[in-house]
Amino acid sequence: MSEQNEQELEKNTLSRRSFLKVGGVAMGTVALAGYSNTANAITGTDKNTNDSKQLSFLIPPPPIKDSQIKKTVTVDVLVIGAGVSGIPAAAIAAEMGARVHVIDKQSTIVSTRPTGFSCFGSKRLKELGVMCTEEEKEALVKDLWGSQNATGKFEIIKLWADKSGEFADWFIPIIENGGIKVQVGGLFGYYNHNKTIEEAQAAMRANPLSVRDSYWQFYPLQHQFGSSNIPGVSAWAGPQDVDWLSILYKYSMSKGVTYDFTTSAHQLVREPGWEKDPTKRVIGVIAQNAAGEYIKYVAKKGVVLATGGFDYNDEMLKAYYPIGLRMCRTWQRWFTGDGHKMAVWAGAKMDDQFTSHVMGTAAMAKAMKSKDKIMPPEAQAHVVPWREWNMPSTPMAPCLWVNNLGKRFINEEVGYFMSATTIDAQPDHMYWGVWDSQWKTKIIPHHMDRLMDGNDSDERMEANVKSGMAIKANTIEELIKKMGVVDGAAFKKTLSEYNAMVEAGKDTMYYKPKKYLSTVDTGPFYAAQMGTSYMTTCGGLITDTNLSVLDENQKVIPGLFAGGNPAGGFYGNIYAPQVPMSLSGHSMTFSWLAAKNAVSGV
Ligand SMILES: Cc1cc2nc3c(=O)[nH]c(=O)nc-3n(C[C@H](O)[C@H](O)[C@H](O)COP(=O)(O)OP(=O)(O)OC[C@H]3O[C@@H](n4cnc5c(N)ncnc54)[C@H](O)[C@@H]3O)c2cc1C
Repeated sequence: MSEQNEQELEKNTLSRRSFLKVGGVAMGTVALAGYSNTANAITGTDKNTNDSKQLSFLIPPPPIKDSQIKKTVTVDVLVIGAGVSGIPAAAIAAEMGARVHVIDKQSTIVSTRPTGFSCFGSKRLKELGVMCTEEEKEALVKDLWGSQNATGKFEIIKLWADKSGEFADWFIPIIENGGIKVQVGGLFGYYNHNKTIEEAQAAMRANPLSVRDSYWQFYPLQHQFGSSNIPGVSAWAGPQDVDWLSILYKYSMSKGVTYDFTTSAHQLVREPGWEKDPTKRVIGVIAQNAAGEYIKYVAKKGVVLATGGFDYNDEMLKAYYPIGLRMCRTWQRWFTGDGHKMAVWAGAKMDDQFTSHVMGTAAMAKAMKSKDKIMPPEAQAHVVPWREWNMPSTPMAPCLWVNNLGKRFINEEVGYFMSATTIDAQPDHMYWGVWDSQWKTKIIPHHMDRLMDGNDSDERMEANVKSGMAIKANTIEELIKKMGVVDGAAFKKTLSEYNAMVEAGKDTMYYKPKKYLSTVDTGPFYAAQMGTSYMTTCGGLITDTNLSVLDENQKVIPGLFAGGNPAGGFYGNIYAPQVPMSLSGHSMTFSWLAAKNAVSGV
């Protein structure tokens, strides 16, 4: 994202503070059409904990009066959020003949472009003859649900497995007609060390479940954007390969979808009396445009919430994902939980379980120690972060990790993807990756096993040292001195014990597999301090398998659907490490289904 876009984003993002300010101005002058002033269904009590302390995001703002509405727009389906999940929803609804309108609070489409999406049973997988049978589906769904400690909603996980292939078969031709290739086998081949996509696909055919680590089975469901023949990086070739959202955006308009940007949805409109009568429909939304005017969008067939996560709503984070407040956030400042809040004010129930797509350790200490803890925006909002941010990838590979006490704390094999919670539990919530001058033979071969880019070079290593992102020293004593905060005596003891275990060929402390064991004994030595970050919050609103949002009594709120990050139930208390890219895969599938259901009157 360019600096100009970033500024644009800042300007147009309605932050939580400015939201409250608008609410404050609105108080006493504006009342929300369709809401009852008493809003008895929502007490402001945190229903997850029965804590009587008021959580302000659960309390509905004063209603906006009909007399304040400048304009009313009537459509069949209204989609809130022109992002990864909102645009497919709008496009399919328009294809089905509905009048569809999308509103977004940004001045243009700003969403992160995921580099791929995971789907089960697509034509692409059927062509390979992998991950497309009923038996494979059953095993996958059971594994996902079981590994979440049964905290997700089984039927929601199964819904994704049942329908995501159908979604992919609709989606892929649109994107490929727009000039961006979609390939399967990339990530599998990346982990499997295959040299080409063809080689990876042949290996997948032979045994699709051959890739696993000490903890998780990897399911090769990733459909990646881009035409490179090199596994994994196919999707990361460049902006031309991944700006698929613009293709879909144009496609949706060709089908008649209309958009209002710089228009922020504030409050859903539900027929009066809903507190006592759950059959009362959500009939639209009141939004505010750049001129400050209130516009009422009436949606005859349904409203689809596709407003993203709540990463930048500190109060919601504190309530549902408290360690997120200590971690770094990505730049997605539009993630203020607006859709979740609006739905709750209209009677919806939030999921009891929350997780986050924890992007483990991919945070430089510099970002971690900064006041706002925001990862710097990428040059384009889609590429592998550590390359763009010029971060060393070696300290996120299975080298030696120690905390400030100078002790190991994890099997480093876990790598960047799932380690954040364990790192968060260390002093200062950070760790040091330590390696030696032989990193090209000791570490680089294993970068790819752990989703590292494996692209550290002499130049990059030196650049990282020069910029202070990594430390280089001729002796261990000098390294300890430069690390500063680490207990030197304990670190030396750890190092000699670790080297002895490597020599003996067995990590008796954390069971790191032998192939990842390598000594740290040949200077010059390196260390880099790393923190934690997360990509986005996932989940929130409880839905049924039609993606209809449910109320406190598990009754459907007619007319209200959720897709994308606001739709709960899929992850339970863990992001599925077995299926990287399930986030966009389930986000898009669910919003697409939600829109179809809205049009067909489910
Ligand atoms: C660096 C990075 C890389 C990623 N890569 C992948 C990947 O490869 N695979 C994967 O599966 N996932 C990936 N993800 C995660 C994935 O991109 C997001 O989870 C996904 O974008 C969520 O889609 P969404 O539609 O819910 O939200 P978004 O795409 O962010 O869309 C939400 C939209 O709603 C709008 N909005 C919010 N509130 C309002 C309001 N009140 N009124 C009007 N509009 C509103 C916002 O402006 C925004 O445009 C990545 C995330 C990051 C940060």
